[in-house]
Amino acid sequence: MTNLAGLSQAELIAFIEEHGEPAYRGRQIFGALQHRRLRSFDEMTDLPKALRGRLHETATASTLTIESRYLSEDGTRRFLMKTHDNLPVETVFIPEEHRDTICFSSQSGCPLQCTFCLTAQLGLLRSLTPGEIIEQIIIALNDAYGVGEKPPRGANLVGMGAGEPFLNFESLIKATRIMADPQGLFIVPHRVTVSTAGVVPRIRELATIPDRPNLAISLGAPTNEMRDELMPINKKWPLEELLGACKEFEETLKPGERFTFEYVMLDGVNDSNEQARQLANLLNRHDLHAKVNLIPHNPAAPLPYQPSPATRVEMFKSILESKGVRTFVRRPRGRDIFAACGQLAAVTQTAGLRAS
Ligand code: SF4
Repeated sequence: MTNLAGLSQAELIAFIEEHGEPAYRGRQIFGALQHRRLRSFDEMTDLPKALRGRLHETATASTLTIESRYLSEDGTRRFLMKTHDNLPVETVFIPEEHRDTICFSSQSGCPLQCTFCLTAQLGLLRSLTPGEIIEQIIIALNDAYGVGEKPPRGANLVGMGAGEPFLNFESLIKATRIMADPQGLFIVPHRVTVSTAGVVPRIRELATIPDRPNLAISLGAPTNEMRDELMPINKKWPLEELLGACKEFEETLKPGERFTFEYVMLDGVNDSNEQARQLANLLNRHDLHAKVNLIPHNPAAPLPYQPSPATRVEMFKSILESKGVRTFVRRPRGRDIFAACGQLAAVTQTAGLRAS
């Protein structure tokens, strides 16, 4: 079965022509899937019934099913979905003052073993297809605004859910290209940010791609010693190599593109004044100008960490700023429903969750 939600408009036209139908039917189906955000052929009542019947035999309009939906006190929604082969996929919708954000997953589980992340405990189940990435966005948009309704303020996407997006690079780039189609979802790459734990070859590759999403690097530690411990991927691509690739990437930035570092703040682990100075020196030594987002850790029972207190975060920020590093503090969202960064681990049973 071909999942048509993962085909570009050109691929869909080719698919439909192979089935003996005219090209305009391909365009029509692309619009139905990606612009009207319909998730079944039966809803496409402007297609002849016989064609819908034939499509059912070889293709599908959607593959993900919604298992549960959790609503946070702050309006954040977490969707727990299942793939056709019964693997968990999580997506988070975060309402914001100026623009809403959808955080999508690139893999079911994750092969990297960041010690502060609950997803790591699932291991890698498998990488998601372009269709499965796009469907997450369609499901979240339809739930938030109604089927096919335009987001009133537009929507930003962040690839910061489960998985390491750069270990599923081709599917990720393909999905972002399909979503950018003006006759489809029309979410342009500038509205999309992907976060990597530091897959260096893909950072270099992204530097060569003109229609690329924004990039965020999850740093987590200012020294190799500490980063080896918190983010074992550092043993493969240590800080010097990672930041060298970051510099190459930064040099290719075009106006309007965003490049940031993310730094999860773990109480008593990576949040000292000395570590703030080390971080600033590291970035300055590599002549990196990207801003740093400090993210207070989101606690989760099996993880041995606590979030840094607000005063510590402020001190860390002021040290970075005193050394010329632009620094922001990210407000955690959806902690109560296990929707916050590093908390996605297909948690289904948590006291007090409002599921629907
Ligand atoms: S923080 Fe990201 S890369 Fe690291 S284990 Fe979690 S999902 Fe994977």
